[in-house]
Amino acid sequence: MLDHQTLAFLGALEARAGQTIGSTRAAVDDNLKRSAHLATLIRQDIHRHPELAFAETRTSAMVAALLRMWGIEVHEGIGRTGVVGVMRFGNHPEEGPGLGLRADMDALPIEEQTGKPYSSVRRGLMHACGHDGHTAALLGAARHLSGLKAQGACSQWNGTLHLIFQPAEECGLDGGGALAMMRDGLFERFPCERIFAMHNAPSQPVGKVLTRAGPMMASSDRVDVTIRGEGGHAAFPHRSADPVLAVAALVMSLQSIVSRNVDPQDTAVISVGRMLAGERGTYNVIPALARLELSVRALDAQVRVLLERRIGELARLQSESFNCSAQVNYMHGYPVLVNDASCSALVEKVARECFGSTMVDGQTSAITGSEDFASMLEVRPGCYFLMGNGNAPGSCMVHHPGYDFNDELLPASIRMWIGLCREVFNGARFP
Ligand SMILES: [Zn+2]
Ligand SMILES: [Zn+2]
Repeated sequence: MLDHQTLAFLGALEARAGQTIGSTRAAVDDNLKRSAHLATLIRQDIHRHPELAFAETRTSAMVAALLRMWGIEVHEGIGRTGVVGVMRFGNHPEEGPGLGLRADMDALPIEEQTGKPYSSVRRGLMHACGHDGHTAALLGAARHLSGLKAQGACSQWNGTLHLIFQPAEECGLDGGGALAMMRDGLFERFPCERIFAMHNAPSQPVGKVLTRAGPMMASSDRVDVTIRGEGGHAAFPHRSADPVLAVAALVMSLQSIVSRNVDPQDTAVISVGRMLAGERGTYNVIPALARLELSVRALDAQVRVLLERRIGELARLQSESFNCSAQVNYMHGYPVLVNDASCSALVEKVARECFGSTMVDGQTSAITGSEDFASMLEVRPGCYFLMGNGNAPGSCMVHHPGYDFNDELLPASIRMWIGLCREVFNGARFP
């Protein structure tokens, strides 16, 4: 749970910020500055207290408490530790569009080495993917919107905003926290016509917006292959069925799937992460079992199906050719992330208006990393976009112990969320 000291501190800060809300342009800018400042304090507090997938109890309690403090309707426990905040605009919000903005909240099992004053106080855990920043940015936007609403700046808006704080993006299996929230009725309870999510992008200029229409991130699956042979004395191989030979041949033939079965125009990856057979020091024993652990990725749903089928076929047939048998456990992770063309165009438009054309790349390359927001995009049109985390020398990639979310990105990401809301709720309808 959020400690009372932190909550009291945020409350006091908020009380000071609230006094400045007025109706002038300067007051709006001031409100934005204060929202970004508050988001920085929140970000560093979340960074100090990282929590793993589906264990984000302190973070989600803090999210819920802050949303309530800003007068926003809150729903907790969706997808175990997920939170949804609801903001309604206009006299008949149900007649306007439903918009979903999503931020992920979980950290990673990595020992932090940033040396920052707000470093993780939990040994072996850290926010090494910037989800502390994503959560803080969406909170900052929520706070700013509640300020705008209070001063009457949203009187022309119409529709319902769903602020989706999602757990377990890093879980990697079974659709992650995104699918967990959907199984708890996310889109039935909180109807969203369009959905958007932002991730920071290391080694890009701060605030640069990158996205693309169509497939942007890969599906990611895990496979366990167990090959059973017949163990025996190393001196008498003809009396055994050697699974080591079978697994070695399988590692080589698996690479023929990408080069011989997948269309050269398509993207696919099969990587062997682990190969295991025998016990240490047993030079003279042919083992009975060998195991493989694979990571499998594709940028097209049909290619993903092909990879699954061919891995199964090769594991079985290759093993049989060595008098062994294979058992394949294919575990679906996240699907291919596909952006809707009109939604990515909307992200580009808002980004250009906020930051200028040089800070927008609407045709960034697709990447073979994965993201559980893909499951949400399978059922609702939307757009996943990246924002630069800074490219200063020495800045680290995500999932590195020296990585840190750049607080300078917070004001820009808040502006992006506000800009999207303005387009959606103040415009006619979705394109
Ligand atoms: Zn990550
Ligand atoms: Zn991430």
